[in-house]
Amino acid sequence: MKQARAAGKTVGLVPTMGALHVGHVSLIEAAAARCDRVVVSIFVNPTQFGPGEDFDKYPRPFENDVAICAKHGAHAVFAPSAAEMYRGKNLTWVTVEKLTEPLCGRNRPGHFRGVTTVCAKLFNVVLPDLAFFGQKDAQQAAVIRRMAVDLNMPLEIVVCPTVREPDGLAVSSRNQYLGSQEREEATVIYRALQKGGELIHAGQTDASRIIDEVCGVLRRVPALQVEYVSLVDAESLQEIEQVRGKVLLAVAGRLGSTRLIDNILVDTTAK
Ligand code: AMP
Repeated sequence: MKQARAAGKTVGLVPTMGALHVGHVSLIEAAAARCDRVVVSIFVNPTQFGPGEDFDKYPRPFENDVAICAKHGAHAVFAPSAAEMYRGKNLTWVTVEKLTEPLCGRNRPGHFRGVTTVCAKLFNVVLPDLAFFGQKDAQQAAVIRRMAVDLNMPLEIVVCPTVREPDGLAVSSRNQYLGSQEREEATVIYRALQKGGELIHAGQTDASRIIDEVCGVLRRVPALQVEYVSLVDAESLQEIEQVRGKVLLAVAGRLGSTRLIDNILVDTTAK
C-alpha cells in the first residue's frame, strides 16, 4: 500500500468485523469503484463489546471472508490480533460527545468509544483516502463522520445504503443467530420502519404519532423486545417533535438473545 500511495494511487478502507455478507460486499464494491486499492480490515474489536455481549460467540469464518474479499475486488485484508491493535492497556481513547448519547448509546455504554478508537487506529495504520461504512449502522456512520471532521482526519467518509434480504430484513452477521421462527419475526422491524416512512411521505410531521404507529406494527410480534423506536434529526441525532429536513427513523430490539437494529433515512426536502 505504501508503494501504491507513493505512486499517487488512492486507498479505500472497508472496516469490518468479518463474517462477511452481501452488505459488506456492497462496501467493498463501492470502494473498488472509487479507489485504486481496497483494503478490508477484519477485526472483532473487543473494546466495542460490553460485558455479556456476544464477543466470544461472534462468528469468525476467516478463510471464507478472505475469499469473499478477493472475489469482490479487495487488494488486501488487514486482520490484526487484539494484541497488535491494543499493545498493553490503552490509555488513549477517542470519544465523540453528544452523538453517542441517544439511540444505541443509551443501552451500550462504551460501545461507541470502542468503535471510534478502533477506527482511528485503523485509519492511522492503513492511511486510507476514503473509508466506507454502511447506513445500516446509521449512528456509527454519523459518529465516525464527526470524528473525522473534528480531528481533521485527512480522509473522506463514504456511507453506503443498507442492503436487505428480499423480505426487507437488513442483512447482518448477527442474523445467523436467529432461529427460523425468529428469522420470520425479524421482518417486522423493516415493515414497521416502512409504515413510519409512508406516514412521513404522506405529510405526517408529528413525531409521537409516527412513533406510535411504528410501535403498533412492532407489537404484532410480541416476542420482539423493543429497545427503542426513535425519530431523530439525521445529523445531530437529537430527538425531534416535528419532522423537518432529513430525519432518521431507527429501531432496536431483541429477539431471544439476538439484538437487531435497523433504520430508514427520510429526506422530506427531496422531491
Ligand atoms: P460489521 O462487520 O457489522 O462491523 O460491519 C462493517 C461495516 O459493514 C459497517 O460499516 C456496517 O454498517 C456495514 N454493514 C453491515 N451490514 C450492512 C448492510 N446490511 N448493508 C450495508 N452495510 C452494512
